[in-house]
Amino acid sequence: MNTTIAKTENQEIIAWRVSDYDCTDGFFEIVFDPTSEGAKQKAAGILGYEVDELEAYRMPEFDHYADLGYVPAADTLIKGYWEACLCCGKEIGLNVQKKKEFKRVVTKGADVWCSQTCKSFYETQNFELPGSD
Ligand SMILES: [Zn+2]
Repeated sequence: MNTTIAKTENQEIIAWRVSDYDCTDGFFEIVFDPTSEGAKQKAAGILGYEVDELEAYRMPEFDHYADLGYVPAADTLIKGYWEACLCCGKEIGLNVQKKKEFKRVVTKGADVWCSQTCKSFYETQNFELPGSD
């Protein structure tokens, strides 16, 4: 009997960090999928890349967020990643900000803002960009 299926990946949803293959642009997305291919497909749409331009790396430290479907911003920030403020786009992170600035950061689920002011603006404006006039 010829069993060519040496090892099947189980269908457990696990965490992947997907980025462009050499990470030149520095963008990545953490996605949850049983396979690296599935993870790359999910991330391709979010990052605006073709699937074959992407690499997926296992992120076992985030596996326990699979049920949630996202990694809380507070956790990614604590682990040293940076995020962009949803309102003004400012880089937020322990390594890119002064401690005083970092203390003003507000998170809610996977969302992050550089300050309460930005969060309030974002929520009241429903993220409609200001008019050009
Ligand atoms: Zn901001």
